Amino acid sequence: MATRQAVVLGARFGGLAVVTWLRRVYSPQTLDIVVIDRWEETIYRPGLVHAMTVEPLQVVPPVRMAMAAFWKRHHVQFIHDTITGLDPQRRQIYTVSHPPISYAALFVATGSDPGWDTVDGLGPHRGGICEGYLARQTASNLTPRPPRRMVFAAGMIHGNPAWTPQISVGCECPLLESALLWEDRLRRSGLREDADIVVLTPAATIAESAGPQAQQWLRQAFSRRGIRVITGASYKKVTDSEVILADRRIDYNGSLWIPPYIGASWLRGSAIEDGYGWIPTDGYLNHPDYPDIYAVGDVASHPWPKMGHSAMVQARIAVRHWYGVQTHRPLPRPYHPELLWAMDTGGGRGLFVQSDVFYGGTREIVHSGYWPWAAKQIFQKTYVSLRGALPLMP
Ligand SMILES: Cc1cc2nc3c(=O)[nH]c(=O)nc-3n(C[C@H](O)[C@H](O)[C@H](O)COP(=O)(O)OP(=O)(O)OC[C@H]3O[C@@H](n4cnc5c(N)ncnc54)[C@H](O)[C@@H]3O)c2cc1C
Repeated sequence: MATRQAVVLGARFGGLAVVTWLRRVYSPQTLDIVVIDRWEETIYRPGLVHAMTVEPLQVVPPVRMAMAAFWKRHHVQFIHDTITGLDPQRRQIYTVSHPPISYAALFVATGSDPGWDTVDGLGPHRGGICEGYLARQTASNLTPRPPRRMVFAAGMIHGNPAWTPQISVGCECPLLESALLWEDRLRRSGLREDADIVVLTPAATIAESAGPQAQQWLRQAFSRRGIRVITGASYKKVTDSEVILADRRIDYNGSLWIPPYIGASWLRGSAIEDGYGWIPTDGYLNHPDYPDIYAVGDVASHPWPKMGHSAMVQARIAVRHWYGVQTHRPLPRPYHPELLWAMDTGGGRGLFVQSDVFYGGTREIVHSGYWPWAAKQIFQKTYVSLRGALPLMP
């Protein structure tokens, strides 16, 4: 047993990348690593958009990641439990069924909880793809008789009002991707003519945090493929047949939601949150008041892209920063937000977007065609088979 213990909360994009980077710099003799998550198996979420295209029982198997071998290889103690709170003074984590767990360093990667109950009438039964079981259920709802009026809706993000720039949605990419995949499926089955597809987003423009070229590409693609896009959606109520917005009603008989993002419920009221369910950090993902606490990925209190790519980049910076401070070695460069999307747009084609324009930069790269699609497939296969231990970015 080592003398120090790092605890990682959450075992998806952020948490797995933290583990991988920790083991690059600390051997099992010098650092114990404990990971806590409520799911015993993890899931590669980007692949869940295929609930639009495959049979219900085929949705989860390609993206399910049994983790036992990974934990063993990385000398990690995995605790399958629900985190309920922490005491940053005592450096302890509380869970439902284990005694308090102590840490020398804490890396929080618990993402955002879904705010299903923040809109009247909304709930997981309206259709979702953020967890494996939801995606499977959504695929079942779509399979016997494809709905004629399908709504794809992004819930709003309940962020910190101090975020600059402000963002309206947590994660738009899978919603847009799902709408395009659905349209493609209907067209291939000869059912497109009779079907209506509507995308709803609270953002003022589609692909809010992408750059202008990507927004233009997507607007044209949606228009060409006859998908209506309603921006500035202010949700009042959802019934079995209508999504009621402040200024109109949308009829539907099938729907898919990326639920509102509300931060992490288990953090509420703790000393480390920002008052809105998110964890404040500096550019090194380090908590301003607790130097032994880092937050990476969706849970960080920033308007930065709430995407797997960002979580992985942030994990490296957080670990290298902690390591640098401990060993008096050079610190990494702080995080610079940049959006990176690879979307499957249907028919063996895709869209690649890399942009920091929304965050004040000038870089915007947009590619469409076969290669973005192929790159996305290769990334998924590699990520799932290596259980997230990719040869990560430098
Ligand atoms: C359908 C879909 C498709 C997506 N596609 C892409 C894509 O193509 N590219 C991309 O870059 N991003 C994509 N994203 C976004 C990406 O999945 C998220 O940004 C990413 O998962 C965030 O990683 P994270 O580690 O911060 O948090 P999460 O992935 O949310 O993981 C948090 C983990 O913490 C655990 N946890 C939370 N609270 C507790 C608790 N109280 N007790 C115990 N465990 C807890 C959860 O079980 C979970 O395993 C997609 C998201 C969705 C929903």
